[in-house]
Amino acid sequence: MAVTAKAKALRAQGENVIGFGAGEPDFPTPDHIVAAAVEACRDPKMHKYGPAAGMPELREVVAQKTLERSGYNGSASQVLITNGGKHAVFAALATIVDDGDEVLLPAPYWVTYPEAIGLAGGVPIVLATDDTTGFQVTVEQLEAARTERTKALIFVSPSNPTGAVYSADETAAIGRWAADNDVWVITDEIYEYLVYGDAQFSSIAGLVPELQDRCIIVNGVAKTFAMTGWRVGWMVGPPDVVKAAANLQSHSTSNVANVSQAAALAALTGSMEPVEEMRKAFDRRRRTMYSMLSAINGVQVIEPQGAFYAFPSFASLLGSEIRGHHPTTTLELAELALEEAHVAIVPGEAFGAPGFARLSYALGDADLEEGVGRLADFLTT
Ligand code: PMP
Repeated sequence: MAVTAKAKALRAQGENVIGFGAGEPDFPTPDHIVAAAVEACRDPKMHKYGPAAGMPELREVVAQKTLERSGYNGSASQVLITNGGKHAVFAALATIVDDGDEVLLPAPYWVTYPEAIGLAGGVPIVLATDDTTGFQVTVEQLEAARTERTKALIFVSPSNPTGAVYSADETAAIGRWAADNDVWVITDEIYEYLVYGDAQFSSIAGLVPELQDRCIIVNGVAKTFAMTGWRVGWMVGPPDVVKAAANLQSHSTSNVANVSQAAALAALTGSMEPVEEMRKAFDRRRRTMYSMLSAINGVQVIEPQGAFYAFPSFASLLGSEIRGHHPTTTLELAELALEEAHVAIVPGEAFGAPGFARLSYALGDADLEEGVGRLADFLTT
């Protein structure tokens, strides 16, 4: 937040700041989706309250899609349409977590999880991972952290902020551990389509059928279809859980905006070609960013396999002199990079991973090259 505020202030002064902070695609929503929304706007039915749990057609399509992509066989009544994936995370935790329950949270983690766990009365149990294990948690780590109060595990692949993607075998091993120990899994699949190279998305929900009664899938249209502002996500899970979450939603927000739901329906039933085009652009930028970061002395980076983030370590530069300063944390380093090089990166402290920083590659190719070039000059000259 501090870095974002400073970047804004610098921009307001007319400075050319290159931002690597974005957690969203830089593309507009594909035309056919926008056209469906425009049409929906003109339909008076869309001007009225809808069912709190979501449009029946959309719930049906999400159920089908979840079977095809994740291998999880649930009916439309097991789908709750939410105000974005973020709201689905909140709803899932609020539904299953009781006061004092422990929720296992591998770090580096997306900033919302610990807050949503806490709001549900739970206690986040953070499990550190680092670049030596590709930022992947192991069954041994999970088992060592398990107590009588362990309620759930948050599983995210592809990951924000690290770009890590678990293999099918690793995913299945974690799922079997959870099933054997009656631990719930909340699997956040929002980056499912954004995988590169040999990496493949696999869903813990489909790979481990024994988990069906204790698994909640979180997903949405934001990242796949460049629809962050439309606010449509969903959770899919056991009938009683979805019913309880739908009751909660009925008394808190009611239905997601109808026009946005119509847009999401068009996204899920239309051509996937624009999605593939965007994925290819992210892949190209990913490779540029990875090779440019790898070439900077003192920066260690593993090749991101999914989402649109690189997560390099700056640990070996901390404490040394950079432009007359001696930053000792990535928080200080990020502030200095902004002041001196006009480049905004998100310090790892935000994700429970000091020593690292997140750089999004969801920005134009020219800006990306200019920004990483500036960072390289700043760190090494
Ligand atoms: N999960 C993860 C891992 C994310 O990175 C995000 C967005 N930053 C979300 C869920 C939520 O996305 P939205 O609420 O925009 O659908």
